[in-house]
Amino acid sequence: MSVNLQTPIDYLKGVGPNRADLLRKELDIHTYQDILNLFPNRYIDKTRFYKVNQLIDNSAEIQIIGKITSFKEVAQKRGKRLVASFQDDTGTMELVWFRGQKWIRDSLKLNIPYVIFGKANRFGNKFSMPHPDIETINDHKKSLSSGIHPIYPSTEKLSNKGISNRVVSKIVQQLFLETKGKFVETLSKPVLSELKLIPKAEALLNIHFPKSQELLAKAQYRLKFEELFYIQLQLILKNLIHKSKIKGFQFDTVGNYFNTFFKQHLPFQLTNAQKRVLKEIRADLGSNAQMNRLLQGDVGSGKTIVAFMSMLMALDNGFQACLMAPTEILSVQHYNGLKEWCNRLNINISLLTGSSKTSERKIIHEALENGDLHILVGTHALLEDKVKFKNLGLAVIDEQHRFGVKQRSKLWHKNTFPPNVLVMTATPIPRTLAMSVYGDLDISVIDELPPGRKSIKTVHRYDANRLNVFKFMRDEIAKGRQVYIVYPLIQESQAMDYKDLMEGYESISRDFPLPDYQISIVHGKMKPADKEFEMQRFIKGETQIMVATTVIEVGVNVPNASVMIIESAERFGLSQLHQLRGRVGRGAEQSYCILMTSHKLSNDSKTRLETMVRTNDGFEIAEVDLKLRGPGDIMGTQQSGILNLRIADIVKDKAILQQARYYAKKVLHEDPSLSKAAHEVILNTYKAMGKYKNIWNYIS
Ligand code: ADP
Ligand code: MG
Repeated sequence: MSVNLQTPIDYLKGVGPNRADLLRKELDIHTYQDILNLFPNRYIDKTRFYKVNQLIDNSAEIQIIGKITSFKEVAQKRGKRLVASFQDDTGTMELVWFRGQKWIRDSLKLNIPYVIFGKANRFGNKFSMPHPDIETINDHKKSLSSGIHPIYPSTEKLSNKGISNRVVSKIVQQLFLETKGKFVETLSKPVLSELKLIPKAEALLNIHFPKSQELLAKAQYRLKFEELFYIQLQLILKNLIHKSKIKGFQFDTVGNYFNTFFKQHLPFQLTNAQKRVLKEIRADLGSNAQMNRLLQGDVGSGKTIVAFMSMLMALDNGFQACLMAPTEILSVQHYNGLKEWCNRLNINISLLTGSSKTSERKIIHEALENGDLHILVGTHALLEDKVKFKNLGLAVIDEQHRFGVKQRSKLWHKNTFPPNVLVMTATPIPRTLAMSVYGDLDISVIDELPPGRKSIKTVHRYDANRLNVFKFMRDEIAKGRQVYIVYPLIQESQAMDYKDLMEGYESISRDFPLPDYQISIVHGKMKPADKEFEMQRFIKGETQIMVATTVIEVGVNVPNASVMIIESAERFGLSQLHQLRGRVGRGAEQSYCILMTSHKLSNDSKTRLETMVRTNDGFEIAEVDLKLRGPGDIMGTQQSGILNLRIADIVKDKAILQQARYYAKKVLHEDPSLSKAAHEVILNTYKAMGKYKNIWNYIS
């Protein structure tokens, strides 16, 4: 009988109440299972010896065999350091001690072979290793310190309280002793054999105590696969359940509204990408499964008309539709755009935002409930309990990442049945991330811009070039164009940013004086009404220059604005830069984006700027962003909770992720209820993870 892995850690030999408390608090380790799942961050390889000429700067700890040929003392600000010259047959390096110098001097001998172990750093053209572990060749051969050693995650508090890496390692060892290393298999036989994965018990043993680099790699592969597999299984199961158990509204007919709009009112020819996506949506809506679709398309790719025509499908079948946007400005813009089309079709449309008056609200609420109102556009205000539809058939959500998953599901509860949901985002999401975060959604991509768009020319200029930039602005304004100048506002309260903005505004006002030039200014400290007023002046073309903080990031559509100048561009993230750039290039004119920076740039900033200059492709930019920032920081994906990966890394382990998704799909395709004998192990593992229950809660 193997030990129950749910046993609290206090019961493990060597873990007293104090250590147990610390482990719980610092590493969230409560049970035997948690210890087993505490995977090392990295390993120290003592199976291999390096040569002096193989050293690289900032490497991991390594070991070298060589001889000390001399000692010298070097005076420094406080006291002195002891430096030994250490030599092998390929070169010379230095060993350095700042403490314990007398003891070192007395116990180490010149010109006999030692094994040293530590981290080497380069100083000038020489490598130097501070305070190396050091032993004679003979001692080294006798000692157990050969092998690959795990380095566990730790915290400052843990090491201060004496729970060193060695202690953690001992605790893990003890666990293997008590359990005799017998752990239940968690993947099915077919998957194991097809992918040649090593058994669970062997993988756990080798992740903690690798016998060789090869076995370590196999153990990592197996455990990463397993982790990603169960995440994918959960997501795909969710999607299947939506489709099979939740009856969506089936839109049988493509009817009058859609056809009339298509034949008589289409303002332009749809791109092939728009047509393809509309077909995908049509297929979803025509089936009786609930639609949950993510529509990705770069800024300006024309998502709005796709959304509108999808709404027409709902209306044609007697249902209502809504469109929710993250900001008031954006909702208003959507509303104004859609209203024109609706008027031609005799469709009733209303706008509901935080600033809608009570009297307006009353009318809207009533018309919604009795079905007179066909389309409702608005902000979060749509989620209020008072907002009830007669029969909401399709909910469109623009700029998904500003809304949480919770809000998405809140929309569902507006009806007896959840409506079809179309989520639109202009932040392209790398495929791997989409698979993980939105793996429960089907994905459509508009990967083609409307014809005739000139791609935006992007350049990087240093502050010293400002006069040239101003001249360029004057030339563009003389041609009748408008210009955005954006200042960073990382935190709305940051006084510094505000100061930068105001100084910038004053300097622009001097160089672009009245009455020839009119300037709008918009920032977070302004009252909404003032903001709106300034924004409108720019939209109407009464001002030529808009000085703003990033509040204009989302939404505003001013086709005549053709120059985007981003100040302190090094302080913006990549996706933010791309979003800002998307504010221009909306008209027929050639547009420009100028990234202004100082000369001091970090490597990451350089990469961001180079990427912006090189490409307009949002997907490529998103990939670079993901590599630079890691998945956790992108679009608040950490909220989704499924990215707290223990061992896998969705950037580095793309291939394994794809494989995991493929196999999860395959298993569920063959056996959606996981009731076949071969899948019992998967069902049991899944249930034990506590995910099973959540899903059913999610649905009811
Ligand atoms: P986004 O995907 O950023 O929401 P929009 O739907 O706002 O993009 O479209 C951007 C602009 O492109 C709008 O002015 C829209 O009218 C125009 N547009 C969209 N599709 C086409 C098309 N197929 N041909 C020409 N112009 C289009
Ligand atoms: Mg849009």
